[in-house]
Amino acid sequence: MRAAIEAHDAGADVGVISKLHPTRSHSGAAEGGINAALGNAAEDSAESHAFDTVKGSDYIGDQDSIEIFCQEAPADIYQLEHWGAVFSRRDDGKLAQRPFGAAGSPRTVFAADITGHVLIQVLYEQLVKRDIKVYEEFFAWKLVENDGRCQGVISWDLLNGGLKTIGGKAVVLATGGQGRIYRTTTNAYACTGDGAAMALHLGLPLKDMEFMQFHPTTLYPSGILLTEGCRGEGAYLINSDGERFMKRYAPNALELASRDVVSRAEQTEIDNGRGIDGSIYLDMRHLGAERIINRLPGSRELAMTFAGVDPIYDPVPVRPGAHYHMGGVQTDTDGATELTGLYAAGEVACVSVHGANRLGGNSLMETITFGRRAGHAAAEWALSHTTVDVPRSAQEDAERELRGLLDVKEGERPWQIRNDLGTSMLDNFGVFRREEQMIRQEGIIGELRERYGRGVVIEDKGDVFNNDLTQAIELGNMLDLASCMVQAGIARKESRGAHSRPYDYPVRDDENFMKHSISHWVDGGPQLSYSEVRVTKYEPMERKY
Ligand SMILES: Cc1cc2nc3c(=O)[nH]c(=O)nc-3n(C[C@H](O)[C@H](O)[C@H](O)COP(=O)(O)OP(=O)(O)OC[C@H]3O[C@@H](n4cnc5c(N)ncnc54)[C@H](O)[C@@H]3O)c2cc1C
Repeated sequence: MRAAIEAHDAGADVGVISKLHPTRSHSGAAEGGINAALGNAAEDSAESHAFDTVKGSDYIGDQDSIEIFCQEAPADIYQLEHWGAVFSRRDDGKLAQRPFGAAGSPRTVFAADITGHVLIQVLYEQLVKRDIKVYEEFFAWKLVENDGRCQGVISWDLLNGGLKTIGGKAVVLATGGQGRIYRTTTNAYACTGDGAAMALHLGLPLKDMEFMQFHPTTLYPSGILLTEGCRGEGAYLINSDGERFMKRYAPNALELASRDVVSRAEQTEIDNGRGIDGSIYLDMRHLGAERIINRLPGSRELAMTFAGVDPIYDPVPVRPGAHYHMGGVQTDTDGATELTGLYAAGEVACVSVHGANRLGGNSLMETITFGRRAGHAAAEWALSHTTVDVPRSAQEDAERELRGLLDVKEGERPWQIRNDLGTSMLDNFGVFRREEQMIRQEGIIGELRERYGRGVVIEDKGDVFNNDLTQAIELGNMLDLASCMVQAGIARKESRGAHSRPYDYPVRDDENFMKHSISHWVDGGPQLSYSEVRVTKYEPMERKY
């Protein structure tokens, strides 16, 4: 939506395609906040934000992207505020900022703990105000490539049925993450990596696919997120002995170390028998009822509804859960991909601000800052180039493929393959990674892809809200993305950020692996290569928290 607003304001004729109503997008679930160095709560600067982000990325974030991001973020926050985002405020009237993990200064702007909900409403209002056309409940299936340009999108109209081709001189992918590859995840059902798969299948490079972030505080057992804002407000993590164990893992930052560090600490406690039925406790009791009710009302409600625990009186059982995918479609700092006319921004993209590990609060900001930049660049390009008609054959080919999918009468239902993918990814490609498990997982994904390739049965042959069909397509996307993730994971023989191999390669190896993994789709499978990390001024150092 941010890209659409910017492109519209630059003079382009814009439409938004979304498989959901836009305000149901997963961004609406974001809780804790959005990072910009405003310096309202303590001294801060774009430089300091950049340093924290580079360090948090374990030194494979591209530093030119990070510098642009940190410099432009404050103005983007004020823009959102002027559009009506009701951020929480300090007594002096300035926007409040709370501490978040691995941030050198409290720089996370927030609206209580419903920040994403607030932002998504504001952006949607701006779409409505500009009368920007929304193709709502259109499931984008294929990008149209013709004459070396991206010229539109072929979608399945969920409400009325039928394939619809929408031509466009430029397309901005903003399809979000792919957490649903894992069985337990904080991500909504819609987060199936469709945009990344569309780009991959067109031959475009995906970058740093092995880096899936596990968030330290997802509710046990549902996997629903409790924001890092809880720890930002002062919550403790304790084990079954009642010990604040983070002092052994990150003596200075404690619970506010970066997410990869905290998730590993929790998993180690659980693995060493100091957990509570596969979880550890997030303890907020000492914050007091007033602070919990005012600052963390959504988290309290989630804990009460989904774990039966009121954090005012009892500690909440949590564990690490699949949360955010740092990898994605490779773009430059204007969101441009390798295909002329195709741009990407947000979680689907890898620009790469987050490298091997994202800092909390940096993702919402990335969707805004790079959404704006991608929208602007796409509009500039579209306004200076001629329209080319989408060839009829593009839709005819898609129609044929669709009929093939719907015609399968005998075989497996997709959900069994989906369950097997989610469970095996969690078991074999989680917080800690072992070579033999990753190799086993590569084999499992190969078998799952074979089962899928033999044809899955879509029982619903109807036109209206055929979720059976779209879920089958989503499954194909996730299988292909998972194979890229595991291939890149096996090849990265070091521990960096979210990719932790404590049993064979426990340390970061800058000499051999300070580089991006690049995945292409060649002859029906992933093919791996590498590219350089763009370094401006931050040389790699040891990460200590
Ligand atoms: C529970 C939770 C809490 C979080 N809290 C924070 C936080 O406090 N701060 C922070 O910085 N980050 C947070 N994050 C991360 C952040 O919210 C996400 O990374 C970010 O919101 C992703 O935004 P996006 O616009 O890229 O994707 P989304 O918001 O997921 O939007 C994707 C859009 O693409 C559409 N789409 C997808 N596939 C298709 C298709 N095939 N056809 C048509 N449309 C399609 C969807 O309908 C949707 O509209 C959180 C994440 C989670 C899971």
